Amino acid sequence: MTDRETIYNILRRNENTFVCSGVFLRDHFIKDYAQRISELRAKGHKIDGMKCNEHNHKLFMYKLNVEYLAESLF
Ligand SMILES: [Zn+2]
Repeated sequence: MTDRETIYNILRRNENTFVCSGVFLRDHFIKDYAQRISELRAKGHKIDGMKCNEHNHKLFMYKLNVEYLAESLF
C-alpha cells in the first residue's frame, strides 16, 4: 500500500471526523503527509484541514468529507 492509500484509508475509516496527522507520523511514519493530502485533494477528495485542537502541538488535523445523497439512506 502506498502512503497515499494508507492516509486515504485512515481518513475513510474516520469519514466526516477530524484525524490528527500525528496518526500518520507516529503510527505510519509518513512524514510528507501534507503532500499526500494535497494529492488526494487533486484527485477530487474533499479534505478539510485545520490546526489540531486535541493535543498541545502544532500539527494539523484532517477530515474527509463524505456526502451521502438522501435517497441512499432509504
Ligand atoms: Zn494532534
